[in-house]
Amino acid sequence: MRYEGMIYRPPSEAYSLIVQVTIGCSQNRCIFCSMFKEKRFRIRKVEEVLEDLQDARNKYRYVEKIFLADGDALICKMTDLEAILHFIKDQFPECKQVTLYGSPRSILMKQQEDLDKLRELGISMIYMGLESGNDEVLTYMKKGVTSQEMIEAAQKVKQAKIRLSVTAISGLGGRRLWKEHAKDTGLVLSQMKPDYIGLLTLMIEEDLPLADKIRSGEFELLNPYDILIETKEMLKYMDCPDCIFRSNHASNYVNLRGTLNQDKEAMINLLDEAIKGNVHLKSEWMRGF
Ligand code: SF4
Repeated sequence: MRYEGMIYRPPSEAYSLIVQVTIGCSQNRCIFCSMFKEKRFRIRKVEEVLEDLQDARNKYRYVEKIFLADGDALICKMTDLEAILHFIKDQFPECKQVTLYGSPRSILMKQQEDLDKLRELGISMIYMGLESGNDEVLTYMKKGVTSQEMIEAAQKVKQAKIRLSVTAISGLGGRRLWKEHAKDTGLVLSQMKPDYIGLLTLMIEEDLPLADKIRSGEFELLNPYDILIETKEMLKYMDCPDCIFRSNHASNYVNLRGTLNQDKEAMINLLDEAIKGNVHLKSEWMRGF
């Protein structure tokens, strides 16, 4: 197996075979994200990907899940994705799940029939980063897509009967836009109707453009209690029946987990207790571990 640079994968792919189909992220301009900054985006040759898969087949007797990395593997042309998925079907008959990151743009660039075909060939879930449902926040953060495009992309994925996992980020509106960020993210998620929602909390690395804006005072970070209030507000607007909600990432101050909408009240109650000081918040130095 050949890996280039740091490899990122969703927490739920901890035990998956990871194969890089792309290197880096096709957007790579978001001012809060450091994940793929050291990589120049490119799509790997399909022959190289198949060689890596063959190498993995020679090494591992049982592979239940495969994650196609890096950011936005869905951007590859259909013929390449089809070749990779056919190879997986032939060589890994025991594999139960193939997943990847898909940017909203890549999803929208695919025809509905393409997404249907990808599901038939084994793609069972697409991970998508919403980050915020508020367009002012998305523009400021240079996400490169609008909330409406996010909704349309999600609807295409759902129509193809591919499961959808979406991440959003607490604190991304800063002090100025926290209310709008909370409300619009809740409302947009309600329209996207994902199967899974992962809510992270903003963490900043020193060399990011957003860190410069914080140093200059242009962007004000929320404190941990503001984050809890914002999360509570966001949850209030979420109407996503049967969606698994997780906010138990290393970046979060309080762990939340439940199924929407039935566990919404319980999660809001836990946040209320935390806001009152009755729940231990993760220390700043522990975040990220
Ligand atoms: S947030 Fe997502 S789209 Fe933006 S640079 Fe990071 S990986 Fe790429």
